[in-house]
Amino acid sequence: MAHIPELLRDGPSCSFEFGPPRDDKGEATLSTTIDELRKRNPTYVSVTYGAGGSTRDRTHDLVVQINNEMGLTTMAHLTCAAHTRHDLELLIERYRIAGIENLLALGGDPPVGYDGPPGELQYANELVALIRSVGNFSVGVAAHPEPHPRSESIQADRDHTAEKLDGADFAITQFFFEARHYFDLIDGLASRGVTKPVIAGIMPATSIAAITRMAQLQGSEFPTWLADKLYAVEDQGPAAVRAVGVSEATKLCEELRDAGVPGFQFFTLNLATATREICDNLGI
Ligand code: FAD
Repeated sequence: MAHIPELLRDGPSCSFEFGPPRDDKGEATLSTTIDELRKRNPTYVSVTYGAGGSTRDRTHDLVVQINNEMGLTTMAHLTCAAHTRHDLELLIERYRIAGIENLLALGGDPPVGYDGPPGELQYANELVALIRSVGNFSVGVAAHPEPHPRSESIQADRDHTAEKLDGADFAITQFFFEARHYFDLIDGLASRGVTKPVIAGIMPATSIAAITRMAQLQGSEFPTWLADKLYAVEDQGPAAVRAVGVSEATKLCEELRDAGVPGFQFFTLNLATATREICDNLGI
């Protein structure tokens, strides 16, 4: 297995994000999705971590299974919120022993309804430092093109992102629907002297309700022009909506690829179809 930054040197990367399934049905769906998408020869895949550690063991086991049994370079997500430093050290050490070399260090959010202690580490940059102290991992961080909803201002968020990326190896963005947001982030980081790779997070808008909800949560704009295109075909059914979402995500990827983006991370939501169609369109 390899450190992701080394793999990025071979040209635009293509990676797929999965989440640990909740039940047997979800497990079967994910298994089919992985079987289908691994044919695309992804640069790496990554596995999300439930808020507050709600998927701690399931994330760990899935990461180890994909990395060690399926032979795909796999990155584990890890969050600070609602964890003690000791919790995190143990988990990072478990990954080290299992031979996992890539971690995504996130601030995270407290689970819904949680009223316990906020967590000993407050921000993702502290988790980057903790991971470095445990082992020789490649460490990614999140970047927020639009910016993060808890930020005082876009400038403050760019400052914090530059600071944490300075200590990390690469970043992956939150999803966005207009390339200008990505370019603004890259310019903001470059003006702060940070030029490490920033992989574009891509979420095809395949469901109006789901995108509306997720965009509100993450602080991403769901542009009116895109919503209008999706609403225009809504009465033709979900396949027609998905086709528009796939077509717009393809155009976004092409614009980013022409501008030299180091890679794409597709947020698959454990489903293969839209991601596979975008890969087809891009010739991946
Ligand atoms: P941080 O970098 O800690 O930033 C959070 C906020 O604090 C920002 O507003 C930032 O500007 C501010 N800030 C940062 N440092 C400082 C400082 N030193 N002083 C003052 N303010 C500061 N969530 C999950 O729960 N599980 C996942 O698996 C997951 N995967 C993700 C994958 C990607 C690619 C992305 C983009 C996000 C993911 N998230 C995940 C969501 C993420 O946890 C949330 O967006 C979270 O609210 C912020 O995480 P962060 O790592 O950006 O936090």
